[in-house]
Amino acid sequence: MKVPFVDLKTQYLNYKDEIDRAIQNVIDATAFVRGPFVQKFENDFARFYGAKNCISTANGTDSLYIAMRMFGIGAGDEVITTASTWISTSETITQTGATPVFVDIDEYYTIDTNKIEEKITEKTRAIIPVHLYGQMCDMPAIMALAEKYNLKVIEDCAQSHISELRGIRAGLWGDCGSFSFYPGKNLGAYGDAGCLITNSDDLATDCHRYSNHGALVKHIHDVEGINSRMDGIQAAVLSVKVKYLQAWTDARIKAANLYRKLLSGIEEVHLPPVRPESTHTYHVFGILIEQRDELQQFLRDKEVFTQIHYPTAIPYMPAYRRFGATKADYPEAYKVQKTELSLPIYPEITEEQIEYTCDMIRSFFS
Ligand SMILES: *Cc1c(COP(=O)(O)O)cnc(C)c1O
Repeated sequence: MKVPFVDLKTQYLNYKDEIDRAIQNVIDATAFVRGPFVQKFENDFARFYGAKNCISTANGTDSLYIAMRMFGIGAGDEVITTASTWISTSETITQTGATPVFVDIDEYYTIDTNKIEEKITEKTRAIIPVHLYGQMCDMPAIMALAEKYNLKVIEDCAQSHISELRGIRAGLWGDCGSFSFYPGKNLGAYGDAGCLITNSDDLATDCHRYSNHGALVKHIHDVEGINSRMDGIQAAVLSVKVKYLQAWTDARIKAANLYRKLLSGIEEVHLPPVRPESTHTYHVFGILIEQRDELQQFLRDKEVFTQIHYPTAIPYMPAYRRFGATKADYPEAYKVQKTELSLPIYPEITEEQIEYTCDMIRSFFS
């Protein structure tokens, strides 16, 4: 049996007619950038998500950058984020002219809220919590710190569409939520796409203007902005797919629960804990395992394809050599980089594929 790490093809084939029609409609209308299909998706996503405003962007990296710029973050400022994330989170901080300040992770693989306060200085302007793998950060603690120190909170929800904590979805806790619709994300387009959600109308208008060359009305440039627009084809695909996001998320949770059941009792496997009162949406199902590299190779030989999220924690990347981080600075992130293994998970994965994967893991240890 073959178990790919992701399978975007099966999903496409399951909805082929609907998606093909949606794409054809955009071409027939020649509504290629922004326009009616993008507006429709913004409305669809805002309504589905329960947010007042959705502002589409070209990708999830730009969404983070735009939000920070709209908060006036720039040179001389500091922005706090997690040591364990995708580089978009930190590179956009640098792009604004600000300095990223990293905090180690907790046992849920998200920013350790007990270690944030010691990193706050006079220059700190914002916190970017990342709901990594689909797991919610400790948002009540983060919001309390933000209130105390008057900081903006930009939630990086690229991996956590419709994750929830205490009944409140990712992206609705902070000042805004930043989303990616990269094809492999839980809600993925057929190319690059992203958005911001916010309940602030003023922030929404600012983001909308800035992402479209500083213009709300064609040829009237109130400010200089950037070109970060969603295209019609991505929007049309996303409007189809958003209708199935809840069902796909339920399927991911079911798959994760089957992994838990079948892997429980293997002493060497540390299963991912779920934060109390939260819904984990399993963009990634990551186990921790000492013999990670050997197991990954073993599984590859059995045609079970896994990945590592991430082989190098952000502060240890060559790109951040200037900060001179040592292992002792981010011990938990370092442990995850050495031992994390992401098992195949997607809505279309079959019980047989999960059983086979778990059988192979079991046989590796016996
Ligand atoms: C994917 C991702 C992004 C960036 O999204 P793009 O749409 O690829 O630009 C940002 N942050 C995290 C945590 C991500 O996983």
